[in-house]
Amino acid sequence: MIEIDGSEGEGGGQVVRNACALSLATGQPFRIVRVRGKRSKPGLMRQHVTAIEAALAIGGAFAEGVAVGSSEMSFTPRAVTPGEYRFAVGTAGSTNLVFQTVVMPLLLADAPSRLVLEGGTHNVMAPPFEFIERAFVPVLRRMGARIALRLDRHGFYPRGGGRIEIDIQPSKLVPIDCLERGALRAVSATAIFAGLPFDIADRELAAARKVLPDWPDDAFTVRQLKDDQGPGNALLLEAEFEQVTEVVTGFGKLGVSAESLAKTAATRMAGFLASDAFAGPYLADQLLLPFALAGGGTFTTVKPGGHARTAADVIRLFTGQQWVFEQLPDGKHLVRR
Ligand code: ATP
Repeated sequence: MIEIDGSEGEGGGQVVRNACALSLATGQPFRIVRVRGKRSKPGLMRQHVTAIEAALAIGGAFAEGVAVGSSEMSFTPRAVTPGEYRFAVGTAGSTNLVFQTVVMPLLLADAPSRLVLEGGTHNVMAPPFEFIERAFVPVLRRMGARIALRLDRHGFYPRGGGRIEIDIQPSKLVPIDCLERGALRAVSATAIFAGLPFDIADRELAAARKVLPDWPDDAFTVRQLKDDQGPGNALLLEAEFEQVTEVVTGFGKLGVSAESLAKTAATRMAGFLASDAFAGPYLADQLLLPFALAGGGTFTTVKPGGHARTAADVIRLFTGQQWVFEQLPDGKHLVRR
């Protein structure tokens, strides 16, 4: 049984999701103590329980201690069973974090799967659908993953009600090298909103434009969704390079002004544009799992954060692989075994 101290490193929920995915993919059971030990409210939260339940369902697995508030859990996998699954994440949870937990084991299974995930599609502290679709999945496809996904309906916190569909074909993953991002091909800033005053979207775009003055006027657009998908708002900044796309998101929430969230997101995008690394910080921590399951590969990233380093620690426990972050002379980092 692999033993994990959930308070080490980043000490958050991603340890749990990565451990479930690695356990299903490698067939090894694990136990975590001090789950989310570095969070102000430690223990499993609803969204983590939902992700573990999805992992249990696809893996015919057995677990103990899986309940909201639990700070100790164990997980024993059996065979992953590909097929049709529908997981309703509840009003506030992120469908994309459930996706993160089950996608790799299902890709490595020997028959196709179809997933329907219902809940939030644009939640703070989680990848929004567009990040999964345009930043994460295209890299997986280059590794050999056969996967198609579709957003049927947006779901925002706290109402949820979103829906995504994913088709997964059995795939063999091969290691790839992702060192260069290539030339910039297109940029866009899209303020999506539903059931909120229109001026929020306009103010976000104006604030983003100030930070990204080189972006052409027609890159800035508003996308109004039907009121019944709201209330909700997100600002999506996208930079498409030849080899990779980065999606930086500002999530609208009560108490944060449209200007402030747009400025933060645009400043992060400007920082990414100023570097020449392949992966931004979120993509970097999410790529470690598929790279490890492919057995190798390399990519460059901006300064690796706690999530990426902790993902590497959990990967080492399950696979014995040592992933390192080597600083290159120009400041970016090379991630390799
Ligand atoms: P905790 O509350 O314990 O921090 P958590 O499960 O909500 O738990 P994290 O452990 O912080 O969250 O993991 C969040 C995941 O979502 C990470 O994989 C991170 O890369 C991803 N993520 C967060 N924000 C974004 C974003 N704006 N764009 C893309 N990915 C994101």
